[in-house]
Amino acid sequence: MKSCSCRRCRGARTVFSLTPEPISATAREVPSAGGFVSFEGKVRDHAGGRQVLRLEYEAFDELAVSEGELLCQEAMQRFRLLDVRVIHRTGRLEIGETAVLIQVAAAHRKAAFEGCEWLIDELKKRVPIWKKEFYADGDSGWVAVEPVAPIDERFYERQLRLPEVGEAGQQRLREARVLLVGVGGLASGSLPYLAAAGIGTIGLVDDDVVDVSNLHRQILYRAQDEGKIKVERAAEFAKRLNPTINITTIPYKLSKININELVEQFDWVVDGTDSLEVKFLLNAACKRLRKPFTTASVHRFEGQILTVMPDGPCLQCLFPETPPDACVGTCAEEGVLGLTPGLFGILQANEVLKGLLGYGEVLSQELMLFDLRTGESQRLARQKREYCPACQGDYKMPSNDLEVATLEEAQAKLGEFRLVDVRESDELPRLKVKHEVSPLSRFTWEPSETPTVFICAHGVRSYQVASQCRAQGISNAYSLAGGVLNPSFKEPV
Ligand SMILES: [Zn+2]
Repeated sequence: MKSCSCRRCRGARTVFSLTPEPISATAREVPSAGGFVSFEGKVRDHAGGRQVLRLEYEAFDELAVSEGELLCQEAMQRFRLLDVRVIHRTGRLEIGETAVLIQVAAAHRKAAFEGCEWLIDELKKRVPIWKKEFYADGDSGWVAVEPVAPIDERFYERQLRLPEVGEAGQQRLREARVLLVGVGGLASGSLPYLAAAGIGTIGLVDDDVVDVSNLHRQILYRAQDEGKIKVERAAEFAKRLNPTINITTIPYKLSKININELVEQFDWVVDGTDSLEVKFLLNAACKRLRKPFTTASVHRFEGQILTVMPDGPCLQCLFPETPPDACVGTCAEEGVLGLTPGLFGILQANEVLKGLLGYGEVLSQELMLFDLRTGESQRLARQKREYCPACQGDYKMPSNDLEVATLEEAQAKLGEFRLVDVRESDELPRLKVKHEVSPLSRFTWEPSETPTVFICAHGVRSYQVASQCRAQGISNAYSLAGGVLNPSFKEPV
């Protein structure tokens, strides 16, 4: 609590506080005051034509209190007030509860009214408090109570000095809308830097909750966040870092139903998922809607990254057949060093900033690979493929007729078929059912009229073999999904 030291103000008090408890309004005694105004902001049951059920406020306490104190002092001086008290609620509030209490005392009533009204307006603009409205039909996501002015002009000082940024570049960042799909390890690298750089609006899509086994790479979260909705915690992280930006949270799974509507609202899409299905879906949607798209994948100590520009080669130009998710080990199965996705997330943020600011060149014609063990990077040229369905706008979700779920299904679908085990000779368990053996390391196999089902441990190698056969025009090659080690694997008796 601070106060002005001049004679007129001596003895005057200001205080700004936050409380998670219900606010009760009792006036402070100010013997020299001739006017006293008390204002209570209430939670109402509607907003923008929607029914509001309740509301939640969240603040970065230290910053909110110091900004609030400054505001109160300014009000004291502007309106010659004798006393100011502001109490703002945090946490969950029900309809009818008091969200904010503002009490102002002045020598005369006019000054008290004016000072109170000024505080009501300025509080919304200047104090970093976020609210979330819960509607009867969904919630608003976290929004700043009102757009907050830059906390301090020094925030962007260092990057403004770069000729590639400057005021014009900073304005481009401020106007930009970037969608991050998946807020895991990759977003843990990209989100902090995009937020700190001043991207004006960031959308976060993820339907998952925080899981402690992911925290070694998902450093947006804290151990005590376990079980909480990821997009909300990630939004909190970003807004604490830079309270001036807008964060939209979308706690749903991205699907072909909602993808167009979502992608349309943004200028740049960053894929931070480990789902091949989502990557290809996003690639096709971004192509169709002409939005730049940056995607990365990581594996143990390595990763790869590329950007798809509206007229350039796309992800599907590079990988014509959409592999099923089972085909690539995920972080959960294969293990991953926490900083691998973090580094590739930072590279993804760099792609976005390059694109928006125009420094360097985005990886729109190349695929960049980087190995953290050796520090070696490779850049592979990419080209547009003539009959790419994503580029032509007729991408369909893969029907995946390459895989059969079980040997029974294979029998029902294909009738008589050859079963070819592509595992190495020392891999167990051995198959009891009639089969041929052709280990991938010395693969020899002659196609025939009879369809072939390839089999391996997890369905990864067999998928590669079958898809290569298809690429060579052999249409009756299949792969057993999940392989021998799949818990549901059964041999026909
Ligand atoms: Zn393409």
